[in-house]
Amino acid sequence: MKRFAIHSQRTVMPHGVFDATILIEDGVIVMALDGATEGMNVEIIDVGNAVLMPGVIDPHVHINEPGRTDWEGFDSATKAAAAGGITSMIEMPLNASPVTTTTEALEMKLRATEGKLHVNCGFWGGIVPDNAGKLEPLLRSGVFGIKAFLVNSGLPEFPHVSKLDLRKGMPAIAESGMPLLAHSELESPHDHNPIIDNRTHLQSRPSKWEDDAIELLINLCSEYRARTHIVHLSSSDSLKQIEEAKERGLPLTVETCPHYLVFDAESIPAQDTLYKCAPPIRSKANNERLWKAIKDGKIDFITSDHSPAPPELKHLDDHNFEQAWGGIAGLQFLLSAFWTGASARNLELTDICRLMCQAPAEFVGLENKGKIVPGYDADLIVWDPDKKVSVNRASIYHKHKATPYSDLSMNGKVLKTFVNGELVYEEGEFISLRQGQVLLK
Ligand SMILES: [Zn+2]
Repeated sequence: MKRFAIHSQRTVMPHGVFDATILIEDGVIVMALDGATEGMNVEIIDVGNAVLMPGVIDPHVHINEPGRTDWEGFDSATKAAAAGGITSMIEMPLNASPVTTTTEALEMKLRATEGKLHVNCGFWGGIVPDNAGKLEPLLRSGVFGIKAFLVNSGLPEFPHVSKLDLRKGMPAIAESGMPLLAHSELESPHDHNPIIDNRTHLQSRPSKWEDDAIELLINLCSEYRARTHIVHLSSSDSLKQIEEAKERGLPLTVETCPHYLVFDAESIPAQDTLYKCAPPIRSKANNERLWKAIKDGKIDFITSDHSPAPPELKHLDDHNFEQAWGGIAGLQFLLSAFWTGASARNLELTDICRLMCQAPAEFVGLENKGKIVPGYDADLIVWDPDKKVSVNRASIYHKHKATPYSDLSMNGKVLKTFVNGELVYEEGEFISLRQGQVLLK
C-alpha cells in the first residue's frame, strides 16, 4: 500500500481554509488532521504556506484526437493540464475526426487515449441532425452528457441543430439525467460587413445571438425538464433571464471562461487573430457584469474552452479574420488567468475551489472528486497564489505555443500536481507520466 501525507498551512476544504495534514492511501484521501502532525509513520510532504487544493476540473476542452492530432492531442493536452493544475477534464465531441456522435466514434476515441493520459479524462457526446432522434445508445456508452451547437460550429462534420432536432433529442436526454450542453448563439439578421479585425468580428456576432439562443434553451428546458447547460457565456445581457429561469427551479446551469473575463474588446490588439473566438470577446463593461455575476453566485463554474488550432489555421501571419479558426488555446492557464482576475476582485480561495473544483465535479457527476474530504480521490494541487507565472515557449505544453495568455501578467503558479495520488508534475518537470484514467459515466 502506498501511504503518504501532505501538510499545508492553507488547505482548501469545503468549509474554509485550514492548517491541515492530509493522509493519502492508494490514491485516496483517507484522513484530514488539524495542523502539522508529528509522529505519523509516513512520509510527509510539507508545503508550508503554499496552497493545497483539489485539482481543477475542466469540463470544456477540445483535444481533437483522433483525426486532427496536428491541432492538439491527448499527450500534449494532458501534460498542459497537469502543468496548469487541472487533474480531470471532459473532452468535447468536436473537433476530433470522427466527431463523438456515435458509440463507434467514442470507442475510437478511447483507443486513441491509450498511454497518453497524464490527467483523468472523460467525454461528452454530440447531437447533430443525423442522430437527434436516436441518442439512447450514445447516452448509455459512458459519455457524461450531450453537446449541441445552435449555430455553425465551423466544422462541417458537426452541423448545428435546429429547434426541431433538439425536440427530438431532449426526451432521451431528460430521461438519462445527464445534461445537454449548448453553444448558445442563434443567428439573426445582422450586418454582413467584411470581418477584418476583432472589432468587426464582434459586430458580426452581436449579444442578441446569445440572448436569443438562451431564451430558446430556457423554453425547451422548461418544457422537457432536461438538465440544460449554457457553455461559455459571454453576453451579460443574458444573466437576467438565466437568473429568472433558475429562480423558477429549472435545471439550468451556466459557465464562463477566463478569456471573456480578463480580455476585453477595448484592449485586445485589433489585428490579432489569436483572440478570435465564438462568442466573441466583448466590452470591458460587459465583462465586469460577468465578474459581478460570478461573485453573486449566478455563474456556476469556470472552464477553459481550450480550442486550439495550428498557426496556419489561426492565420496568425496574414490576419485573415474571415478564415481564421475561432477558438482560444488556454488550457494550461485556466487557473492562473482566472485567479489573477478573481483575486483583484476579492474572490477568495474557497470561491476558486467552488468554481473550479467542486461545482464542475458536481455538474459532471464525478462523485469522488472536487473536494478534500476523506474518501475522495487524491487529485490534488499545490500552488502559490502570489507567485508570478512566467510564460515562455518552453513552459507551454499545448501542442501549439501561440496563446493570448502569454501576453497577460498572471499570478498563481502551480508547484505540484498529484493525479490519483501520484506526483505527476512539479515545478516545470514531469515526475510520473500516464497516471490519468479514462472517466466513464
Ligand atoms: Zn468549446
